Amino acid sequence: MLEGIHSDARLTSWLVQGRALFLFLHVLGVACFAYIVSRRLVPLIRAERDPRFDRPLARLGKVFKFWLGQWKHPRYKTAGTVHILIFAGFILLAMRAFTVLIVGVSPNFVTPGLSGEAGHLYEVATDYAATVVFLCMVFAIVRRAVFKPARYEVPAKFGKAHKADAIFLLSLIAILMVADSLFEAARAAAQAQPGHVAFAAALSLPWLLKVSLVSLPLPTLGALCFAGYLVHEIAFYFLLCYRPFGIQFHVETSLFNVYFSKLERGKLKPVKWGVSDDHLDRVKSFGVKTFEDFTWKHMLDFYSCADCGRCSDNCPANAVGRPLSPRFISIKARDYAFQHYPMFGRSKNGTPLIGSIYSDDEIWSCTTCGACEEECPLLVEYIDKIVDLRRGLVDEGLVPQSLQKPLKALNSRGNPYGKMEKKKADWTNAKDFQQICPVKTLDKKNGADTLYFVDSITSFDDRMQSIGRATATILDHVGENFGILGTVEKDSGHDVRRFGEETLFMALRDHNTDVIKASGVTRIVTADPHAYNALKHDYKDVPPVEHISQVIAREVKSGKIEFRPVEDGTAVYTYHDPCYLGRHNQVYDDPRDVLDAIPGLKRVEMTRSRDRSFCCGGGGLMLFYEPKEEQRIGVKRVQMAAEAGANVIVTACPFCMVNIEDAIKVAGFEGKITAIDLTELVDQQIARESTVVTKEAAEIPQESVAGR
Ligand code: SF4
Ligand code: SF4
Repeated sequence: MLEGIHSDARLTSWLVQGRALFLFLHVLGVACFAYIVSRRLVPLIRAERDPRFDRPLARLGKVFKFWLGQWKHPRYKTAGTVHILIFAGFILLAMRAFTVLIVGVSPNFVTPGLSGEAGHLYEVATDYAATVVFLCMVFAIVRRAVFKPARYEVPAKFGKAHKADAIFLLSLIAILMVADSLFEAARAAAQAQPGHVAFAAALSLPWLLKVSLVSLPLPTLGALCFAGYLVHEIAFYFLLCYRPFGIQFHVETSLFNVYFSKLERGKLKPVKWGVSDDHLDRVKSFGVKTFEDFTWKHMLDFYSCADCGRCSDNCPANAVGRPLSPRFISIKARDYAFQHYPMFGRSKNGTPLIGSIYSDDEIWSCTTCGACEEECPLLVEYIDKIVDLRRGLVDEGLVPQSLQKPLKALNSRGNPYGKMEKKKADWTNAKDFQQICPVKTLDKKNGADTLYFVDSITSFDDRMQSIGRATATILDHVGENFGILGTVEKDSGHDVRRFGEETLFMALRDHNTDVIKASGVTRIVTADPHAYNALKHDYKDVPPVEHISQVIAREVKSGKIEFRPVEDGTAVYTYHDPCYLGRHNQVYDDPRDVLDAIPGLKRVEMTRSRDRSFCCGGGGLMLFYEPKEEQRIGVKRVQMAAEAGANVIVTACPFCMVNIEDAIKVAGFEGKITAIDLTELVDQQIARESTVVTKEAAEIPQESVAGR
């Protein structure tokens, strides 16, 4: 690449004259960068521990897929394509940038392996890379400044916009590309003087500059070469040192953020890493109250957020005007870190976060649906942080009024409705049900292979009890030897834990674990994705668990379940993915396979489905919480189903059913759209030898004990 300069003594002499200046700039730039990064590391060193140094191969796999492979970027086509082009350009230009920097102090330097043909090919690639990056910068600046995509805007309630900062940095990168190309073009133009071979990749930025410079005399080209070099070096080091002050810091941190990202879905972080449940009573303070209570990885998340707005664009809480936008959980914390851990002077730590940068409503508004984490191209995590902030609120006794009663009931009765334990299995006593499908309660005399874990809402909510009966009927139909825990089953505690009540969760979990183990079952089935997620990820030492949709899909394939055709030719079905079945546990295909196995069933997909599914509004204790919002989340979901042309919404979660049925009424779709659980639909459509069919779904009682 730089052979032309070496062969041309007059051009080289320009660089040689500046050698001392360039060396000074190198030393200054590297020293400033090292100092800035060392200051940025201070809060991470003081942060809570987070053991993320295990499974290096799995972590490297994530780096290849999500960082190098830019896996999530194409989810937003325009911005994603532009980002991939910039990223690829940067990767290609990285070596050239360092080579150019070294040439300033050692003009004869040639990167090992890049002389001859390989060097020529690399030169072509980098000429085009610089051109593409420059054009992408211009595009990004125009997009942010003129077209202003909504997801970049900053509502006043979330603080100040960082648009000017973003545009400044984009402009700086554009200048860097021009300076690099000018340096390259001046060299090529000098080579084009008589007796020399000129080269610049055709139609690239260096080529265009070369064409306009070629008639200039050599001394002028030498001066331009010097100027291009100097501007390149200043812009390079300025960018390097300025990035850690804003959103571009992700250029430095994203590789590490992806490497140290969470490896398992559905799992919550413990209250404190390194402290077992038995020793939690020794922990003085639960959860996150001050910035320093976050783990170092969570702080790295804050540094790595690129402020792209994809998380908030997909957040249901943000979509309905709740006071939560996940992007600002990161941005506000990063601004806090920059302010409280300044470049010079002492850090000012220990300020409570709630009331300073976050509000309690903001923290309670999250449904833990996981849409933000699914969307983030840099794998920034939110649920663990929000749950940790809730743990801090609970520890301070700052629980919302509407949640106090259900939490008290969970403590005393083991369910959030305050119902008597002895009523737990009343759903099996519905008229004629025991004759059609005898459900045994497991005890010392009555054993079974499989436990049907019912959980609170299905046990006590009149409407959801139908899901319990349909589930039991299906298990009976496929010949499963199953039973229930009955009065000794307590709430799984899934949402108790996600609302920050770790101690109460532990009591529920320990009780259920003991009774499950005592029952002697070898597997567990549930129709409640929250119970499924809890038993799978929050419990230890219990038998393997499946969601009923997985059992049904398997038995459809085995031939044990056959369906009769759908009679209503006008029905158009759509499947709503429950967050704790889909996004958190990746069960997307089984429910769809079951629906597609029913003859004559017409199914359409909502635009937001599978891993981009839109939460119903949240389950568990979220049913009792009364957030500030402009619209119900469930109403938006029902509108999405209507837009897809569906008139039957199939769910696979009792909480989704509560929210969606409620939303159908609120949105004015009563009589036009209905909701049905997958188990109810399967129960209706199973082809039985006998004509006795459990028509639960046709006789759904309208009363509900759920919160709203
Ligand atoms: S957290 Fe991720 S998705 Fe959200 S703004 Fe930051 S980088 Fe974008
Ligand atoms: S988990 Fe869901 S509700 Fe919570 S911040 Fe993320 S997208 Fe929003």
